[in-house]
Formats: sequence, C-alpha cells, structure tokens
Amino acid sequence: MALVIIRNDHKIPTWMAAFKAYDSTLKVYDYFQPHPKEDVLMAAVWKHPERSLNTYPNLKAVHSMGAGVDFILEDPNGIPDWPILRVKDNNLASDMAEYILGQVLSILKEFPKYHSNKFQGIWEPKPYRRISDVTVGIMGLGTLGLAASVLLEKCGFKCLGWTRSSNPEVSFPVYTGINSLESFLSKSQILVCLLPLTPQTRGILNRNNIKYLPENAHIINVARGPLLVESDLLEALHNGHISGVTLDVFSEEPLPGKHPFWKHPNISITPHMASVSDPMTVVPQIVENYRLLLKGGELLNRVERERGY
Ligand code: NAP
Repeated sequence: MALVIIRNDHKIPTWMAAFKAYDSTLKVYDYFQPHPKEDVLMAAVWKHPERSLNTYPNLKAVHSMGAGVDFILEDPNGIPDWPILRVKDNNLASDMAEYILGQVLSILKEFPKYHSNKFQGIWEPKPYRRISDVTVGIMGLGTLGLAASVLLEKCGFKCLGWTRSSNPEVSFPVYTGINSLESFLSKSQILVCLLPLTPQTRGILNRNNIKYLPENAHIINVARGPLLVESDLLEALHNGHISGVTLDVFSEEPLPGKHPFWKHPNISITPHMASVSDPMTVVPQIVENYRLLLKGGELLNRVERERGY
C-alpha cells in the first residue's frame, strides 16, 4: 500500500524527501517514475496531469497539497466518489496574512509608484493614507481570510467580511450571501479576494460587481485568476473607477509575456507566491489522513463537493 505524489512543477523529489524524513517506513512513489500502480491508495496532488488519477485502479482518496481544490474538481476526466482532502495549515494562513498586510500598507503609502519613479529619477512626494482612513473588505472568511482579518485588525484596520453562509465570530461586520454583496462591496475601499474558485465564484469580480466598489478602490486578488474578468478589470482601471490592482494569481500562469497586465502602471504583479505549501508542515497532515484511510477512520479537512470547496 502506498501514496503517490503527482505534481506538474518538478518539486516531487523535494516532497518525496520530506515524506521520507517524516516517516521512513512510508511507501511513497513519484508519478513520473515507474511504480506498481495497483499499490496506490492515496494521491497527493498539485495540478496533476490530465488522466493521471484514473490510472490508479485502487485509489481511495485524493489529497490536495495546498488549500485550493479547484484543479481537482475541474479534472475533465471526472473524479469518481473519492474523498477529496485539502490542507489547512497555520503557516499557509500566516504567510497569506503577512502578504496581504504588506500589500495593503504599500497601497496606502504609494510604494509601487515611488519604485517606478526611482527608475526615471522622479522626486515627487504624493499624498498618503493612514491605517485609520481605510476599510478593508475580505471576500471569503475561511482559513486564510480569517487569518488576514486578525492581522489587519491588530494593526488598526477596519475590516468587513463576506461569506457564503457562515457567520464567524469576529468583531467586524460580516455580510452573507449574494444578496448582501452590493452592500459589502460599496464599503470596501480595499477589496481582498480570498474566495475558492467554484461555479458560483468564477468571474465574480466582473464589471457589474466592480461598479459597486467606492471610487478609487483598490482590488487585491490572491485567490484564483478566473475569479476576475480581466477585460472588465482593465475597463474599470481605464475609466478611473478603481485606482489600482494587486494580483498574485492569473487565469494563465505563468502570466504570458505579452499580457497587457505587465505594462499597466496601476497593476502590481507577484508570481503566485503569496502563500506556498511548506512540506515541513503539510506532510504531517497528509500522512495523518493516509493513516486514517488505512485504519478506516474519519478523514480530516474533507472538501464538500456540492459546494466546491
Ligand atoms: P476556505 O477555508 O475554504 O474558505 C472559503 C471562504 O470563502 C469561506 O468563508 C466561504 O464561505 C467563502 N465562500 C465560498 N464560496 C462563496 C460564495 N459563493 N459566496 C460567498 N462566500 C463564499 O478557503 P481558504 O483556505 O481560506 O482559501 C481560499 C482560497 O485561497 C483557496 O481556495 C485558494 O484558491 C486560494 N489560495 C491562494 C494562495 C496563493 O498563494 N495565492 C495560497 C493558498 C490558497 P463560508 O464561510 O460561508 O463557507
């Protein structure tokens, strides 16, 4: 009985080493090396190649190696009734919270503009905002959104949240469901998107919803690229309704060299690095679920397929 690691990013050897270091008795296979497929009970995956999962006749569960599972649920070959499991990790949450805090402060103080002015020798002080001036709206108050809200509040930001149905215990207003989206957006001077990509959320940052944001709002998308309609975003920047955008995720990654986002003066780009799964903390979770699977126990952090996250 074994685990297989299936990833598309040449990091399998690093993860294999982390599994072995954690438990040297584990049988772990590299998808790209020959191995007996019938041995495999669980697949640990990150953007696995098409049809890879369906080659394992005894597969019993699929474990995402990160927080997102959209790439599993969207597998064009279908996912039989295997349980789908995800990572919930304190490091992933605190890394995301720190990324968001850094970006929000940089927006308030206009750091990206000074960075580009520096290359042209431009000395031009600009007005800046204070933490107390700004309300940050967080779309999605799950593991990552909640961690971000805790850090932002600690620093003095006013926060708002938007969820599908939950009402987490927080000290700031939480809006729930599609009917409250307009009210939530209309108060979000900086909008942080931390929603999972599902059929309900795909394209949610579109012209219609962007128009509810206050004038000069800034959007930070750290969730998934297809949540955002790129042409609608460019239009909102062009007509001046939003002042800037910070993007860590894109519909196509890596972002193609000729993409208009690269040269846009009001779009900041990072290469999907806001919060990256750390083998040291993620491997123990996957192994725990693997052991539960072997014992027939209740698996942890199971995704609800019907809701898509
Ligand atoms: P999570 O724990 O599953 O939380 C998802 C949140 O989104 C919940 O609050 C949920 O509402 C809300 N939500 C889902 N569908 C909704 C809808 N239709 N309308 C309103 N709210 C909705 O997810 P997470 O662990 O915080 O991660 C969020 C996403 O971040 C992941 O799915 C992944 O795509 C992305 N991510 C990005 C990076 C990066 O480096 N850029 C790293 C890790 C993860 P309820 O509370 O009502 O359920």
